[in-house]
Amino acid sequence: MQLFDAITELGHEQVVLCSDPVTGLRAIIAIHDTSLGPALGGTRMWQYASTNDAIVDALRLSRGMTYKAAVSGVNLGGGKAVIIGNPHSEKSEALFRAYGRFVETQRGRYITAEDVGTSVRDMEWIRMETKYVTGVGGVGGSGDPSPVTALGVFSGMKAAAKTVYGSDSLAGKRIVVQGAGNVASHLVHSLVKDGATVFVSDIFDEKARALAAASGATVIAPDAVFSTPCDIFSPNALGAILNDDTIPQLTCAAVVGGANNQLAQEQKHANALRDRGVLYAPDYVVNAGGLMNVASEVEGYDRDKVMRQAEGIYDITMNILRTAAERNVLTIEASNAIAEDRLRKVRHVHGNFIGSPTIRGV
Ligand code: NAD
Repeated sequence: MQLFDAITELGHEQVVLCSDPVTGLRAIIAIHDTSLGPALGGTRMWQYASTNDAIVDALRLSRGMTYKAAVSGVNLGGGKAVIIGNPHSEKSEALFRAYGRFVETQRGRYITAEDVGTSVRDMEWIRMETKYVTGVGGVGGSGDPSPVTALGVFSGMKAAAKTVYGSDSLAGKRIVVQGAGNVASHLVHSLVKDGATVFVSDIFDEKARALAAASGATVIAPDAVFSTPCDIFSPNALGAILNDDTIPQLTCAAVVGGANNQLAQEQKHANALRDRGVLYAPDYVVNAGGLMNVASEVEGYDRDKVMRQAEGIYDITMNILRTAAERNVLTIEASNAIAEDRLRKVRHVHGNFIGSPTIRGV
């Protein structure tokens, strides 16, 4: 990979390579775009096959954060960091504190959070060296984001129902939910309460059974989620589950779920869904509640405001689906265009975020 070519093509402002041989730290902080505010995004710890893979992941993920914030009206930029290493055997206080020092050098241009392979404990170690970290427990912390994410998915689903059926009521709709984890649990309860007939699955059967028993949903097998006849399919487990094998099995009218990166290949599989007559609500739009939750922590956490923001995902999704229909483009193309338009205009107003260093006590 030609690094500067990749950065130029993807539109990154800055990529920071962090090295501390004593603690074994090798990390990459990718700051994609700070037109809307400081770049926020989690720190992933993963044993990448190569440095190149780690950089590519950081570049791709940080860009995704810019779009998610931009389209959901959050005043944050997009960033992401990766620490190269085995999250099960190579963590230490010193490593995360060394990493925290590098985050501090950005003077608030980059704010970190938990991600795959990192935990609240790791954030607490980072916090020893910098205040630019969210998702740390205790007073003022935003806590578990999944109820907020679920409310956003529920609101996005109502917008999709309105678009497809002319009414945003989910009463009487058959909805298949993949996953019975944190987001799915909150979502399933809301759907049943709204009068939907809900089918739920998880690779851990006991999780699906417990959720079904608590909510009134029905359990189905994990491999039945794609072919079970339904109105709406809601992926809330892993990414890349909309692909060449699964899309031909779908019978639903819409896909609306909280899982990240649902389309195995964005353009190709968004097209395949449209060809099949399935409305796709872009994942990064409807699952932005989690980002809204940590974003609020940056300004001073306000749960009621965050829940109202997550409900606003109804209007945001509606606007995207309407724009896609009017312009005859894919829904992901409409959401990307709306995000890029906001970025362009705000960038024009105030440029990029330069952090707020204190110099000689001032
Ligand atoms: P979770 O780990 O609590 O739940 C995921 C569940 O999916 C687990 O119970 C797991 O057993 C199950 N699962 C895995 N593979 C499956 C399969 N093939 N079929 C059925 N079930 C399967 O995670 P979560 O916090 O609920 O997040 C769910 C998804 O939403 C993830 O993709 C996550 O990245 C995304 N997301 C979550 C949040 C949040 O606030 N937690 C915010 C934005 C996006």
